[in-house]
Amino acid sequence: MKSYKVANMYRLYINSALCVGCNDCVTACPHNASLPPEMRGDEKNYTIIVKNGKAVVSNQSYCDGCGVCIEACGPMAISLKVAR
Ligand code: SF4
Ligand code: SF4
Repeated sequence: MKSYKVANMYRLYINSALCVGCNDCVTACPHNASLPPEMRGDEKNYTIIVKNGKAVVSNQSYCDGCGVCIEACGPMAISLKVAR
């Protein structure tokens, strides 16, 4: 069976000027939420993290473009583009 890797098709952008560091995107992301306890200590296992009060993309390759973080972000600081 042929498998498709959807990760890396999407690129996350975070507008730090709009981000208030609330962490809602981090907790809302299904990937982040599904991390087993042993993977939670390493920021590289997360799609998005909050660092120094601002959300940053930590590991783009885990993002499948679901858009949940965009919905969770009140200030509308996150956007997603299809990578070419
Ligand atoms: S939900 Fe939006 S405002 Fe909150 S940390 Fe994430 S990007 Fe920043
Ligand atoms: S688009 Fe989906 S998988 Fe990607 S960071 Fe946002 S919530 Fe997580």
